[in-house]
Amino acid sequence: MRTSDDPGDQRFLLATLPPRAGQTRLAIGTVAGLLVALAVAAPFARLTLDGTAVLLPAYATAVLLTELMTAVLLFALYATQRTPALLALAAGYLTTALLIVPWALTFPGVFAPTGLLGAGLQSTAIVAAGRRIGLPLFILAYALLKVMEAGPREAHRPVLPAIAGGMALAVVLAGGLTAFALADDALLPRLMIDTMRETPLWRVVPVSALALCAAALAVLWRQRRSVLDLWLMVVLGAWAIETCLLSFISAGRFSAGWWSGRVFGLAASSIVLLVLLAEMTTLYGRLVRSVAAERRVRDARLASLEALSASIAHEVNQPLASMVTNAGAGLRWLDRPSPNLVEVRAALKRISDDGHRAARVIACIRDSFRKAPPQRSRLDINGVIRSALDRTEGERRLNRIAVRTDLQQRLPAVNGSAVQLEQVLLNLIANADDAMAAVTDRPRVLSIRSRRRGLTDVIVSVEDTGTGLQPAQEERLFEPFFTTKEHGIGMGLTICQSIVEAHGGRLWVAANQPHGAVFRFTLPADDEPERPEAGAALERTP
Ligand code: ADP
Repeated sequence: MRTSDDPGDQRFLLATLPPRAGQTRLAIGTVAGLLVALAVAAPFARLTLDGTAVLLPAYATAVLLTELMTAVLLFALYATQRTPALLALAAGYLTTALLIVPWALTFPGVFAPTGLLGAGLQSTAIVAAGRRIGLPLFILAYALLKVMEAGPREAHRPVLPAIAGGMALAVVLAGGLTAFALADDALLPRLMIDTMRETPLWRVVPVSALALCAAALAVLWRQRRSVLDLWLMVVLGAWAIETCLLSFISAGRFSAGWWSGRVFGLAASSIVLLVLLAEMTTLYGRLVRSVAAERRVRDARLASLEALSASIAHEVNQPLASMVTNAGAGLRWLDRPSPNLVEVRAALKRISDDGHRAARVIACIRDSFRKAPPQRSRLDINGVIRSALDRTEGERRLNRIAVRTDLQQRLPAVNGSAVQLEQVLLNLIANADDAMAAVTDRPRVLSIRSRRRGLTDVIVSVEDTGTGLQPAQEERLFEPFFTTKEHGIGMGLTICQSIVEAHGGRLWVAANQPHGAVFRFTLPADDEPERPEAGAALERTP
């Protein structure tokens, strides 16, 4: 059976899963993108930058990456959940991610004294206002859409066009605002007095952002239903703190308060990403485990089906062989000049008994695989031994095998299934007969002995003078499907062992002296006050 460490179970894990063609193309595209970025950055590589010129682009890059990744994960989530709310949130994160680029590029004194892209005094502030108000606005849109979407999901709507639409909206919004921010400075609202100080009009931005944060928080609080909702509330908290630090507490651009506000901003940008990654990893792990467990159940079912069919084949072979032997004997009695009808009748009776026994064996095997409790009763094991010897007498006569029995009188009863215990004895006797078939230089003797062992057990031994055991094979005899016989199945001893163990006993093998093998099994004695008569089967064995 497979375990979770089995390589077969690892094929769902990222660490071992082979990449699809699309993923390889994406990886190559990523490397190409990195090379383009290098080509763009190389001409500036030798410029000496002051602290702000280093920190601000680094901060912007971190925000850009985390918000982009968050947007990608949210779009992926939308692909499975198909709710407009998720689409709005993903588009929102993409918009704010895109806006950080013109924000950093136009920031005065970072890449150029008045910023790149031909930026004016108001450009960075306009883009910053878009980001500040944009994120809580999109989260509010997400919360409101969630309230409205009590109905069924848009399972019918094609995913890719919707995602493309969301991305296009983000590009249009970010591009439109950037174009507006880069327009003639005289036409823009006056948010900055100079590169360091804001006008009173700027206050509108943080106040609107805080109002939107409060509104989104209220809506999410009222209908908080998912892990994402919970963490979006934390994002809004961090965003509100950043807004307060930047606009009301700090001493303006580049002050300590302004930078610490940026730390809150980075936290706000990363929270959803971290939560999504953590949740996805957990869910993914759970999925892998449940798929592996399902596969183990299926393997176990297959293995038990295989064992079931092998056991049926094995156990039915014996009555079939005995039926063939008895039919042959019956025919020989009939073929005589004066047919002996008494012997023919006896042979037919044995054939009929074997037919019934085969049916009972199949029922028993089926029960044992269904884990149905076997039909148990108090029985005399000596009666079971005699019954098994009677059944196999024909074959033994053909193979010229002598039998010696040494069955202890007044043996305690055992509690068990007569059919199953007889099956054990029939298997052991058939194996002993097989092991002696090739022996020609000594008598072929099958000895069966029963004894009480200690206070609690009954022990039965089946000895032969056959070929004996190969030391290397001894440990494997009880393994399913282990056989050294040309037409063997290798289930006989496995079945014997499981029957004996199910009865609370033990089965083992040893070398017989000077030749052959001896199989012994114990069964717990059932010392009820009502003791069986020695040698009498309490349950009539078939
Ligand atoms: P099968 O009879 O189909 O081979 P079993 O599980 O009954 O399956 O036996 C497994 C193997 O154990 C046999 O193939 C044989 O090699 C060995 N074995 C069983 N009984 C004896 C015995 N009495 N003497 C020697 N070898 C034995």
